Amino acid sequence: MADAAKGSERTVTGGCQCGAIRYSVGVALPPAYACHCGECKKQSASAFSMSIPMYFDMLDVTGSPKVYESKAFSGRPKYNFFCGDCGTRLWHSGTNPPTAITLKVGTLDQGADIAPVEHLWVSQKQAGIMLDPKTVQHQTQPDDVIAWRKKLEQ
Ligand SMILES: [Zn+2]
Ligand SMILES: [Zn+2]
Repeated sequence: MADAAKGSERTVTGGCQCGAIRYSVGVALPPAYACHCGECKKQSASAFSMSIPMYFDMLDVTGSPKVYESKAFSGRPKYNFFCGDCGTRLWHSGTNPPTAITLKVGTLDQGADIAPVEHLWVSQKQAGIMLDPKTVQHQTQPDDVIAWRKKLEQ
């Protein structure tokens, strides 16, 4: 399993807590970021979210997630996909473009070695959570989120 040590160059699998929704990713995973905003605390029911910006066609999904619609900070609609049985949040998508998603790192079967390369909304960071000082840290979020995301994907 030498390939497994390469990190992103592997076929990864994941799914919700109950297993009703499963997915695999056949391409190298882009880097992950963490977000410490209030919305991410709500959606994760935890201190922050960790997400991988990617595209829906990179996923091979079995099962039918439900969708909860909310609003991004931009005011544009945001579509939050989750398992209707166990409630696990799986990925989000928006409108710009609708094929762009953020996959939730916590749903990966083997994601423990994935470190966030950037942190958003550290101004709202939970007390006691220490960040690697070598990571890029934003007090809120970049003004142009779409451009920021494109940079991260490369
Ligand atoms: Zn489930
Ligand atoms: Zn957030």
